[in-house]
Amino acid sequence: MMDSTGIENQLQSWEYSEAPESTTVDIDQEHGLFIDGEFQAPSGGGSFWTINPSDEQQLSRIARADEDDVSRAVASSRAALKKWRKTRPSERAKYLYRIARRIQERARELAILETIDGGKPIKESRDIDIPLVAQHFFYHAGWCDKLRYVSGTREDPNPIGVCGQIIPWNFPLLMAAWKLAPALACGNTCVLKPAETTSLTALRLAEILQEVELPPGVVNIVTGDGTTGAALAEHGGVDKVAFTGSTEVGKRIAAACAGTKKRLTLELGGKSPNIIFADASIDQAVEGIIAGIYFNQGHVCCAGSRLFVEESILDEVVDRLEHRMQSLRVGDPLDKNTDVGAINSEMQLATINRYLNAAHTEGATMHSVNGSPLPDRGFWCSPCFFTDVHPSHTIAREEIFGPVLAIMSFRTPEEALVRANNTPYGLSAGVWTDKGSKIFEIASRLRAGVVWCNTYNKFDAASPFGGYKESGFGREGGRQGLRAYLSH
Ligand code: NAP
Ligand code: MG
Repeated sequence: MMDSTGIENQLQSWEYSEAPESTTVDIDQEHGLFIDGEFQAPSGGGSFWTINPSDEQQLSRIARADEDDVSRAVASSRAALKKWRKTRPSERAKYLYRIARRIQERARELAILETIDGGKPIKESRDIDIPLVAQHFFYHAGWCDKLRYVSGTREDPNPIGVCGQIIPWNFPLLMAAWKLAPALACGNTCVLKPAETTSLTALRLAEILQEVELPPGVVNIVTGDGTTGAALAEHGGVDKVAFTGSTEVGKRIAAACAGTKKRLTLELGGKSPNIIFADASIDQAVEGIIAGIYFNQGHVCCAGSRLFVEESILDEVVDRLEHRMQSLRVGDPLDKNTDVGAINSEMQLATINRYLNAAHTEGATMHSVNGSPLPDRGFWCSPCFFTDVHPSHTIAREEIFGPVLAIMSFRTPEEALVRANNTPYGLSAGVWTDKGSKIFEIASRLRAGVVWCNTYNKFDAASPFGGYKESGFGREGGRQGLRAYLSH
């Protein structure tokens, strides 16, 4: 029998054993625009590389849609609208159901592509993103012939028309599903603009739309950069714009839509508070802090990026968080053990580094305790948190969109509330306490679209998601999300 020193020696001599997901997924060298049910060359012939942010390898050339291409796509959606809106709701449901089934069948391929193109850990794309994508289509398939219960009318309400939908890079296929599924369920047609760094899964979805024989033009996908997005948002043939992205671009889009007939919904940035009371289960709360800020490298609009801890347990929470972070694995996103993958782009890494510098200059104390060394190539940031943070510090006020947490303390529930609400944003919040009464009291007074209690970052197609204040307006998911796609 081995004594305890023997076991310890053996444990120390064990080397880390990777569990890499296979990369046997075909990636086309070049991708066209998906217009009228076919992949087409862009009229201007422009294209750009999409790369793997974990090793900077070029993956595929993506077509850049210019104004003419966007016009072609909008015209295609307009032409398809006539038939699609009259398609029997139960028939529309079958298309959505088939899309969901094909997503499930091709789930592994989609998860690998999402991870290669965007840098997120395979265990997240495999177990969270792609299953939620399928769920979103299944859920909305069920709504197609029940829309009168959304509007509360006797007859089924009408769709709005042609929807221009612009999405970000943090949950590429999931954001596409959040946009397309409700719009299609309501009988709208769509022109979707994926983010520049993460177009691959949207283009694979286009293949799925071909496979399920969705009528041409019901969904068009125009890849490109911000100018493509602007051309879509400003196009006169679009009846509704749905945008998810930064508050800065959202404000520009709102200005472009003001004074037009266009309907608009905006899902924007956040700086969400995660509040831990002294009576909470601390180990559980620490898991919630980790899930809140390090999930998807912190590239999460609703990330719990401002942590408020009741003063009496501050030291204990900091100690336990530091300890827990030592076991976070940062590295190859395709390794099934990886908890924190690559930063999505060089530009985003530069943004995060600017905030880290600001935090140092303004006097906050950094804690970065990750054990695993960062790879040499690619874009990487060790998960970290800051103490000695003042509410006026830049990292306590502005959205960083990276694995960076600002920790502050409070003494009374009232103080926690005032400080949590002291932000121009209002997307989400977390509350950790053993007392149900406190949960109701605090949750009802937090100005946030979603409040999680004793958990964080949980999503469901049936649950509406969206913001207050500068986090935007309109909801996605659930019955409330459908309203944005119906003209009552
Ligand atoms: P972003 O720069 O605003 O980009 C979002 C999308 O808009 C991308 O497809 C982008 O294209 C496009 N775009 C850029 N400039 C445009 C313009 N002038 N007109 C029209 N479209 C334009 O945001 P991001 O950096 O990709 O994403 C991060 C932000 O999204 C964060 O602030 C985050 O909080 C927010 N977000 C919010 C939610 C939510 O549900 N509330 C969810 C996820 C993310 P390019 O990629 O080519 O630049
Ligand atoms: Mg990429």
